[in-house]
Amino acid sequence: MSKTIAFIGLGIMGLPMAKNLVSAGFDVRGFNRSPEKAQALAEAGGQAAGTIAEAVDGAEVIITMVPDSPDVEDVLTREDGILAHAAAGATWIDFSTIRPDVAKGLAEQAKAKGLKALDAPVSGGEPGAVDGVLSIMVGGDQADFDAAAEVFDAVGKTIVLVGPSGSGQTVKAANQLIVAGNIGLLAEAVVFLEAYGVETTSALQVLGGGLAGSKVLEQKGQKMLDRSFEPGFRLALHHKDMGIVTAAAREAGVAIPLGSSVAQLVAATVQQGNGGLDHSGLFTVVEQLSGKQ
Ligand code: NAP
Repeated sequence: MSKTIAFIGLGIMGLPMAKNLVSAGFDVRGFNRSPEKAQALAEAGGQAAGTIAEAVDGAEVIITMVPDSPDVEDVLTREDGILAHAAAGATWIDFSTIRPDVAKGLAEQAKAKGLKALDAPVSGGEPGAVDGVLSIMVGGDQADFDAAAEVFDAVGKTIVLVGPSGSGQTVKAANQLIVAGNIGLLAEAVVFLEAYGVETTSALQVLGGGLAGSKVLEQKGQKMLDRSFEPGFRLALHHKDMGIVTAAAREAGVAIPLGSSVAQLVAATVQQGNGGLDHSGLFTVVEQLSGKQ
């Protein structure tokens, strides 16, 4: 397999995903705004590109993994960006989590330039990226999805085409709603258990075996008990995602009262200067509400 992949955005998620593509046999050229992260890819057998043009030139697949809608828009459409340098017929896969309407619009721009476009946000966190077992919700055409199977298989485990362009991002917005709600309730449960002096490690163990069990409980419970909120998934990014889901729900005429409450708690945590914590750090605000800090 010698397909050339340009990978733009080598952050917490992008770097391990790019490394997994190298391990799968692809020729991966990585570009990152801060160049030292691209060096880490080179040390793992990929190539460090100094510019987007250098990464994208002649690549059959172009991947973006950057934080937010304006960032994707920028790397795609700026003068020295992807669209200016991509070969016609290349496939652009955006793994970032962005607004569904922006994803749809950018896919149209990419298609007008002769590219194939797939919005493919992921779930599974940093451990899922490192282990190559992400859930990937894809929006785009069936033929383009099928043709990108080898790429998706190298980074993910549950990979589903959910509809036309933008649909992947709509499903990801629902994912973020569910995850934030779970984290909020888990935080409330931990504060509650601690108030009663219950042995919390045992409590979470037994809760994890019943209907209250979840991946959120498995991955975030101990972080809350330890007050250890090294990211992972930064609260600032989950704040962005709660903005996406509340706006999209409003647009669709859908009420999300629980989601809106959690969105406010996430916003408060970020405003307190904790946007750099893992999203399990939502616990800090939940704890404050009960005067327990
Ligand atoms: P991250 O660690 O902050 O990495 C973002 C990367 O994008 C960095 O390498 C950054 O470069 C680069 N970047 C930022 N703004 C840019 C711009 N305007 N132009 C070019 N490059 C830019 O974020 P992450 O956690 O990997 O998340 C990336 C995306 O995946 C986000 O959309 C996030 O919501 C989503 N996601 C994250 C997780 C998770 O658990 N972390 C899980 C699922 C989905 P610098 O190094 O120069 O800052």
